[in-house]
Amino acid sequence: MQSNPTAQHVKRLLQADRLFGVDSVPVPSVLRMLAEHGATGAPVTAGGSVSVESKRTQLDVLDRDQVKGCEKCGLCKGRTNTVFGDGDANARLMFIGEGPGFDEDRQGVPFVGRAGQLLNKMIAAMGLKREDTYICNIVKCRPPNNRDPAADEVIACTPYLHEQIGIVEPEVIVALGAPASKMLLDTQTGIGRLRGQFHDYHYTNLSGEVTSISLMPTYHPAYLLRSPQEKKKTWDDLQMVMKLLGLELPTR
Ligand code: SF4
Repeated sequence: MQSNPTAQHVKRLLQADRLFGVDSVPVPSVLRMLAEHGATGAPVTAGGSVSVESKRTQLDVLDRDQVKGCEKCGLCKGRTNTVFGDGDANARLMFIGEGPGFDEDRQGVPFVGRAGQLLNKMIAAMGLKREDTYICNIVKCRPPNNRDPAADEVIACTPYLHEQIGIVEPEVIVALGAPASKMLLDTQTGIGRLRGQFHDYHYTNLSGEVTSISLMPTYHPAYLLRSPQEKKKTWDDLQMVMKLLGLELPTR
């Protein structure tokens, strides 16, 4: 008997919706272990040598002393708040979008609007909590009417992002959407071709060493709200990230 492709398609979308719509998921054993600083006693430090307190302090100082009063590009004129970053300074997983929207500008926190709620569900589907990850954007001030950041704005603001990455030193970066993916990978290739595979993000760490982090481009949650049929592809990308991090994949 031939399978019904429409039924299969609907089933896949329902699965993706369920995965991104879960209210709670079992915390994988590896995460429980990490939350307790490991059965081996090893600190949950991606870089291995810098304490989480030191990382938190470095991020706080960068935000307070440089970003909050920054006027390096024209985006400072329309902002209510700068939006620096949110989450675990020691995170193994970092999400990077292109810039704050209306709700983020009002609250000074990244990904808190409808797209942020979907991102939270995506993170929950991975068996993580938002606070297990680090979330930020390329530009720290809201572009007017939520347009993509302009090249001069990206150039002005990326030193802050590079410092954030160097401090947190995540094991994996998920770039959310085309602007963030293209900027981080310095390419004009579209998100449809970039996603679905890991790329190397090269950067200089705080010790001055050039190193790389695995980067997975995927669709931005705001795009997924408009195009829910792409959730399945995003879930595929996130499962590749889970695998690389050694997280437990769902069996359902
Ligand atoms: S977007 Fe970045 S560079 Fe521009 S004013 Fe805001 S913090 Fe400064």
